Amino acid sequence: MDLYTKNLVISFLSVLFPLFLWQLFYLLHYIYQFKWVKKSMFAVFPMISIILCMTFPIAFIQPLLLDFRRIPLILGTLYGGYKVGFLLLSVAMIGRYVIDGEFYLSYNFILLITTICAAILSKYYLQKPLKVKIVVNSVLIFFSLITLTIFPDHLPVGNRLMNIRVEHWFLNVIGMLITTLLTEVILINFDLLHKSIKAKKLEVASHLAASISHEIGNPLTATKGFIQLLSDEKIPIDTRNNYLKIAAKELDQAIDIIDDYLVFAKSALINKEKISVYEVLQCVVTILAPLANVNKVKINTSLGGGQDCFVLGERKKFEQCLINIVKNSIESMTSGGDIQITTESVMPSNIRINIQDKGIGMNQGQLDRLGEPYFSTKENGTGLGMMVSFSVIKGMGGDIKVKSENGKGTFFSIQLPTYNQKFNSEV
Ligand code: ADP
Ligand code: MG
Repeated sequence: MDLYTKNLVISFLSVLFPLFLWQLFYLLHYIYQFKWVKKSMFAVFPMISIILCMTFPIAFIQPLLLDFRRIPLILGTLYGGYKVGFLLLSVAMIGRYVIDGEFYLSYNFILLITTICAAILSKYYLQKPLKVKIVVNSVLIFFSLITLTIFPDHLPVGNRLMNIRVEHWFLNVIGMLITTLLTEVILINFDLLHKSIKAKKLEVASHLAASISHEIGNPLTATKGFIQLLSDEKIPIDTRNNYLKIAAKELDQAIDIIDDYLVFAKSALINKEKISVYEVLQCVVTILAPLANVNKVKINTSLGGGQDCFVLGERKKFEQCLINIVKNSIESMTSGGDIQITTESVMPSNIRINIQDKGIGMNQGQLDRLGEPYFSTKENGTGLGMMVSFSVIKGMGGDIKVKSENGKGTFFSIQLPTYNQKFNSEV
């Protein structure tokens, strides 16, 4: 590669490199919300570009400094507005003066006119389609290089130099085209990024709203119904008390559901207590017995050794976690059958709770998504049950393993550290 080509490549990279830096800082600013990255800092990148361009020019045939400095000057002004424009103009003027100690009037005059034009156009530029942008940029860069021929008096004449000037003109227009396209692509990417972040947030909010209103709506509607019934003064006191009890129970259920959602907000368990695995499993089976009956499902338990096995956590959450899993198993067995719940101790100090159903099972894709918020294959599913279960077990220092086969059934294995009496005082 000859020196001229090498310089040309380096010079063009001087224009491109700050573009990539801009992209990087933009991501830090918007995605990672780095406080120290301010939007006003973005004017720095075309400035770096101008300085780099003049430091590594394509050629310097005195007084001709051939480089791409006009590209960042014009683009910076068009995208950043007049303030950025005049800042960049000062850098280009001062930089040129520093290089050979000459103040070229025609160069500075044309550059000033170019910057003023770009600053005026910047108001309308951003809304214009790409074609218009390309035309505007090409005209501006073409005009900014007019000093090369219109004012030849301060330039040495000669055929070779004339060729270089034309070539330089051509290179700048091509460089401007590429840089404009790249800038536009980067801006489109930023725009898509913003849109997808916004859409994601809206999706989460709408899912949450839908599932909360669905789950909490039912107990609240029931409570309202009973309160309305209470307005009838003829109801006997016993019935009245009964209604009040049911209304309170329904409200409790709504509170429980809200608690479930809060499990995420606070993944750490706050009120840790010693929980008997045996008792909780018995309780879960009792709670789910009516549902199992309706679905013609029989729950068999074999809790060998579970009676004196304890784990540490929040009892209500642990119970809810197991209910969610066993409930899914019941729901998966559309034509009835047996569910096996067994416990086994795993050395040195763990307990494993196994739940096996012979339901519809899951394919690999579904298995991979299990525990993802809002993943549900059920018509009225919330897709939150497994998410809650996974986070409760994680919070208790345990682990859930799932094996499933489409059409054959699913096997849940929950491993938890057992609560050791020796550490009683630490609780
Ligand atoms: P939901 O029950 O509201 O759909 P979950 O988070 O409890 O939400 O479950 C998510 C999904 O995981 C279910 O819709 C179902 O497709 C699948 N799934 C969970 N457990 C089982 C199981 N035992 N058998 C088959 N599919 C299951
Ligand atoms: Mg469920």
